Amino acid sequence: MKISLSKTAIATILIVVAIAICASLGVFLYKKTFLEDEIKIVKTEEKSSYEIIGKSVQNRNIDSYSYGNGSKNILFVGGIHGGYEWNSVLLAYKFIEFLNSNKDIIPSDIKVTIIPNANPDALYKIIPKTGILSISDTPTSTKQEQEIARFNANNVDLNRNFDCKWKPESTWRGKKVSAGSKAFSEPEAQAIKGYVEKNKPVAAIFWHSQSNAVYASECNNGILPETINIMNTYSFASGYSPVRTFDSYEITGDAEGWLASINIPAITVELKTHETIEWERNLAGFKAILEYYSK
Ligand SMILES: [Zn+2]
Repeated sequence: MKISLSKTAIATILIVVAIAICASLGVFLYKKTFLEDEIKIVKTEEKSSYEIIGKSVQNRNIDSYSYGNGSKNILFVGGIHGGYEWNSVLLAYKFIEFLNSNKDIIPSDIKVTIIPNANPDALYKIIPKTGILSISDTPTSTKQEQEIARFNANNVDLNRNFDCKWKPESTWRGKKVSAGSKAFSEPEAQAIKGYVEKNKPVAAIFWHSQSNAVYASECNNGILPETINIMNTYSFASGYSPVRTFDSYEITGDAEGWLASINIPAITVELKTHETIEWERNLAGFKAILEYYSK
């Protein structure tokens, strides 16, 4: 028996098949984009102690993930400069992924907290995703687009909005930048302040990029002796050069300076590039800091 189909019938079948393929692809992509993120967040929440510590200007969550139950809390922060330093956010998420499977590396007297994305609106301009990010979320934007994505949604440089020598205008590589209407005018800076005041960390480490160095911090009373110790500890383990004082241009209102002013040792780790997470170097630095504080 020979079955012959008219051209119209063939066209109809092809259209139906095409619609079916598109629909399945749509469901697959939806699941991949939205549901997987949600599932991952739930899983991560189970493995760590997860908390939303604040909201950004555009109402995005600022998350924290904590590991270990010790009395000494060490705080790590990525992404205060948003999309311009997106690699610092991916590095922080890599630590979250690592700690989810390696919780036992946290000594019993330590609690580690990671705030992976301190400036989520700015990062979203470069990596338009929410939830857990991974190393595969490398953006494809231009350098210029990334430079603009340094500031929060009020166009404020968050690392000039903290209460240490605060001025309304500050500088970044010789350019004027807004430091907000007053110290802690920005909700993202308030989120970190709130976390610090509530949890009183023994030390804070901020990941930035890129100058291949570890900087100490100070406000009006010089560098805390312990800041020098942790700068040298992270530097020695990671190979980033230790720098006591940043003197390329005047910086006011930085988070690390504010921490120094309330007697919390804080260091700035500047990755070598804007594009890589330099995992082994930072893992070595991280482990050295844990060892330093677990003594
Ligand atoms: Zn930075």
